[in-house]
Amino acid sequence: MHVREYKIDPKNNRQIPTKIGVTFTPQRYAELISNLNDIDKRVKRVRAGVEGLLNKLNIGCGYYCVVESGFACVNLRRFLVPPGGDRPFPSKIGIKLNFEEWDNMMKYAVEVKESVKVLKDAILSANELDHSNQQGYLNCGHCNPFSTLSEIGDTFQEDNYQSEGE
Ligand SMILES: [Zn+2]
Repeated sequence: MHVREYKIDPKNNRQIPTKIGVTFTPQRYAELISNLNDIDKRVKRVRAGVEGLLNKLNIGCGYYCVVESGFACVNLRRFLVPPGGDRPFPSKIGIKLNFEEWDNMMKYAVEVKESVKVLKDAILSANELDHSNQQGYLNCGHCNPFSTLSEIGDTFQEDNYQSEGE
């Protein structure tokens, strides 16, 4: 599943995909869908001008959905640790959806999941069998992409998504 920006090829007026975008595995897409309403709640707050809000939701393997006060977009982006670095940074891989685009995503995202079998069948990583013990969860590259960074990686993941108090 791709969320991708297209441009018009001036030669033939056809739409062609650009490098700007993000690729969802079925599992990452499932992760996004299961959090869709939560994300939208936060988007609504940012749109209403609420300050100091920063939500980074892990949708798997270093891909995050970022909603932040002062930024009129939903940022779907891969975070990577630079060589020799000790914490993840946003990479060039990703796409910023403006709120109108986000609204469209809200409108169709569930329907897309329901109508494509591999997307429909995907289960959340947290529901995988080996996640019933903590080691399985900690070793999972989907849930803990930056686990080799010890506490730094963990702190990054939490990043006040949970502490919104809802
Ligand atoms: Zn996992």
